[in-house]
Amino acid sequence: MVDCLFCKIISGEVPATIVREGPGTVSFRDINPQAPTHVLVVPRAHHDDVGALLQADPGLLTELVREAQAVADEEGVAERGWRLVFNTGREGGQTVFHVHAHVLGGRGLGWPPG
Ligand code: AMP
Ligand code: ZN
Repeated sequence: MVDCLFCKIISGEVPATIVREGPGTVSFRDINPQAPTHVLVVPRAHHDDVGALLQADPGLLTELVREAQAVADEEGVAERGWRLVFNTGREGGQTVFHVHAHVLGGRGLGWPPG
């Protein structure tokens, strides 16, 4: 999609630190990490948010969650515990409207999130 930051990262137009690539997803480090591990997992196809992705392609949502688990495994946080977050919509804190899962770990995260 034109003028979508994450589409530009996926196409290579905007640089990012990519940690994993799957057939349908790309995972890269968040530019403003909130925890020692903070990786974003995004589908290559543009969908605005998790609800839109679920409706359009539930299999791709499953792949995205599988990739998030693989990132947590590779980062060494899976056993200690980690968090998977989909900020959704403006009041949900979503600022980039290309669906992305935040993989957070490496410190005690507590609840509610700060
Ligand atoms: P959200 O607020 O859930 O939409 O998350 C968007 C995330 O994208 C934020 O955590 C930002 O720090 C992150 N972000 C913004 N620009 C970039 C970028 N160029 N590369 C990597 N992460 C980014
Ligand atoms: Zn996009």
